[in-house]
Amino acid sequence: FDRLKQGLTKTHESIVGRIDSLLLGQKQIDADVLEELEEILITADIGVKTTVELIRTLEQRLKRNELKDGNALKAALKQEITNRLVQVESGLDIIAAKPFVILVIGVNGVGKTTTIGKLAAQYRLAGKKVLLAAGDTFRAAAAEQLEIWGERVGAEVVRHKEGADPSAVAFDACKAALARGCDVLLIDTAGRLHTKVNLMEEMKKIRRVIEREIPGAPHETLLVLDAATGQNAISQASLFKEAAQVTGLILTKLDGTAKGGIVVAVSHEFSLPVRYIGVGEGVEDLREFEPQEFVDAIF
Ligand code: GDP
Repeated sequence: FDRLKQGLTKTHESIVGRIDSLLLGQKQIDADVLEELEEILITADIGVKTTVELIRTLEQRLKRNELKDGNALKAALKQEITNRLVQVESGLDIIAAKPFVILVIGVNGVGKTTTIGKLAAQYRLAGKKVLLAAGDTFRAAAAEQLEIWGERVGAEVVRHKEGADPSAVAFDACKAALARGCDVLLIDTAGRLHTKVNLMEEMKKIRRVIEREIPGAPHETLLVLDAATGQNAISQASLFKEAAQVTGLILTKLDGTAKGGIVVAVSHEFSLPVRYIGVGEGVEDLREFEPQEFVDAIF
């Protein structure tokens, strides 16, 4: 928890630090305070839509005399934010299928390959047999990066030549995962934001191949977003949600950014659970996301 809190320091400052300054010397909570709070939440990347909703709810609570002082306001805000994070019962149930196939998508540079490496490390530590598919055939370094992770954690890697068809990599990886009795197959993809149509076609083609080779797969399609990009993450989520059947989110680079409020915005606006968050470069810095713990760490 301390490590998580440490990683979220800047977000804590941009939300709670500013709320504390706002409340300093404020005898009672009134409409003006809520108006300033709205400003704080929007600039802290909680998103206009989610913020407006939060403020409306707080206005109602104010009318019901529930917000007697600053502490009551903070507690109410914390509770309302937690309520808006999509809750899931547990972490990914990777024993539900063998191989359990995770398709990882997202724009270039958000941290897909690194996240796959960290996930592979964690699954290996849990004793799972892991296969990695270097589906980002566009960026030459991506396959090499994945191979380095593979060697480091003891996972095999399926890779093709640079520029190869990503769905051909997915095809080979599915075959190999079945033949080798792997527990988990993690598939990397290229996140070229060329045209929307191309992106959709590429995603559909990869999915088709996976679905055909392994019935029921992909079991999870995780969209990786860089928290530091703030509102851009929202437009990426809307683009990918349309193009691919996204089942969950991973928010990376929460360390070093004050824009952590984006976690709340994307989860709430797209009704998607956040599965993991990245709060640093280390393997253990990719954490399973727990709404309550996250909000506690920020507050
Ligand atoms: P990809 O193009 O989406 O595959 O992105 P990469 O996996 O190559 O990651 C891009 C950069 O982000 C690398 O330098 C990673 O080390 C870095 N990165 C990924 N996740 C995190 C994180 O949670 N925190 C920090 N500080 N850096 C990260």
